[in-house]
Amino acid sequence: MTSPTNVPQNLIRPDKDMFLGEENPFESMMSRFDFAAQKLSLDPGLYKVLRSPEKQIIVSVPFLRDSGEVEVYTGYRVLYNTSRGPAKGGIRFDLNVTLDEVKALAAWMTWKCAVVNIPFGGAKGGVVCDPSQLSNAELERITRRYTATIIEVLGPDSDVPAPDVNTNERVMAWIMDTYSMHKRHTVTAVVTGKPVSMGGSLGRREATGRGCMIVTREALKRLRLPIQGTRVAVQGFGNVGSVAAQLMEQQGMKIVAVSDKSGAVYNPDGLKLRDVMQHSRQHRLLSEYRDAEHITNAELLTIDCDVLVPAALENVITSQNAARIKARIICEGANGPTTAGADRILEENGVFVIPDILANAGGVTVSYFEWVQNRAGYFWDEPTVNQRLERIMVESFAEVAGMSGRFGLNMRIGAYMQAIERVAAVHRLRGMYA
Ligand code: NAD
Repeated sequence: MTSPTNVPQNLIRPDKDMFLGEENPFESMMSRFDFAAQKLSLDPGLYKVLRSPEKQIIVSVPFLRDSGEVEVYTGYRVLYNTSRGPAKGGIRFDLNVTLDEVKALAAWMTWKCAVVNIPFGGAKGGVVCDPSQLSNAELERITRRYTATIIEVLGPDSDVPAPDVNTNERVMAWIMDTYSMHKRHTVTAVVTGKPVSMGGSLGRREATGRGCMIVTREALKRLRLPIQGTRVAVQGFGNVGSVAAQLMEQQGMKIVAVSDKSGAVYNPDGLKLRDVMQHSRQHRLLSEYRDAEHITNAELLTIDCDVLVPAALENVITSQNAARIKARIICEGANGPTTAGADRILEENGVFVIPDILANAGGVTVSYFEWVQNRAGYFWDEPTVNQRLERIMVESFAEVAGMSGRFGLNMRIGAYMQAIERVAAVHRLRGMYA
């Protein structure tokens, strides 16, 4: 760290500590935040403000089991920062939900919305539960009680949830209905990720994968690499990975490997993607796919390819395997797939990483479009959604590349700097109400 800073040194983790907490993606994220804040010479007061969540809510969620028994679960909602607009962020139903995790994910959403310059702050929520052990009716009762209990923070102007781990458009429909019943009129803009038939946006399902394709194409152009024939490996063949693979193929790239939780399929000459998609649409695992070589998920990360798209889990590229990665570009479809320890190795090896808060921001961008359409009561056709997404992703990529170029830092730190600068600028203009 060479540049002077106003940030209190006791609040900054030095560079070497970026290797610490490698297993904790949220620690990794905050260490990058600290580094970017320091490079921006962020005012110490603003630094403290931006490192603190605005509002943290812990609620009890009592509900009736189908058996008639009463259970009480714990729910959280954290509004991290709302200086730029209503809080935006998913709700997850999972046994591993903790307040610390929700806080960190809410911070992540704040930077993600700011990187793509949409007028939202960041939030996250969750209920500690195991949805696989709950009936549909029990899930509905939990969702409705949780919504009613945190209703004072929810609203199109204050906090707009979306699906996350183990929640989906069905759950969003229940939240929208519960909120609307309390308000005595239908309020579609209170959640995004709704079914299209009740106000969801066309193009939302494909938006994250589409965003990945757009920023990868921009990175190839920037590095003066050809798009035609570029060899791509994709880890995770779900919503993000399968759409990204399909759209990249449509651009002329060659998909050489894809994987799901059962393993990876590989063909150095290019997979028959349409076949693989069809296989996977039949809910069959890729380990059962016959027309390609089988490799492990770990091997997929280090195979010979030009672009690697981790689109499954966090923490898969670590200081243990980063040196063996052969891809020239990594497009982070998943949240937190690369540890801070791995970042340094990748940078030394000249790998161009498109960071998660930029690469997978297509989803929240079209969520913003959904909210805009709900508020206007006027719906866009799919080409319009896609064109507007394209413009935002292309501009955001150029802005992050510009920031990283100006400071001679990698794209990840450039993205954090861009985000922090935007949030900080609004705080400066609004002033301190103290
Ligand atoms: P998904 O559930 O649709 O798909 C996940 C895929 O990963 C599946 O193919 C699954 O088999 C695979 N997988 C699971 N465990 C694996 C393992 N150990 N090794 C390899 N593959 C494994 O999820 P998704 O919506 O595509 O999300 C993927 C990632 O992208 C997550 O990190 C998510 O937080 C992030 N993300 C998603 C969106 C979105 O709009 N869906 C937006 C931003 C970020």
